[in-house]
Amino acid sequence: MKCRQCSRDIPQDDRYEHIGNVYCEDCYIQILSPARFCDPWADYSAKSFEKHGMITPMTENQKMLLKVVKELRKAEPADLIERTRGVISPADGERELAALSRMGKIEIKSVEGKAMIRAL
Ligand SMILES: [Zn+2]
Repeated sequence: MKCRQCSRDIPQDDRYEHIGNVYCEDCYIQILSPARFCDPWADYSAKSFEKHGMITPMTENQKMLLKVVKELRKAEPADLIERTRGVISPADGERELAALSRMGKIEIKSVEGKAMIRAL
């Protein structure tokens, strides 16, 4: 199985599905979090806040997603986006999940080829 984005051979365990296509972990994270790569400052400031012991306040969308993750214990990104439909757009949902992952609130892991999210 090859990654649709970079054509790299992907081992079974590192396979991520997104809208019917298969990607390697790197490309999947990039797809899930486009902001991360075009906005290095966001990443930098989040890290420097952590370093100085400051807590980055969560947005309302992030709080809602985190609540749903905690209720479900573990979930696929599509489940979360489905459950918050009408409140959070799918694009925002994916971006907020990536932000929560960076903040260490959730973990995104590959389980049997599917992305699984759980609260930390
Ligand atoms: Zn790839």
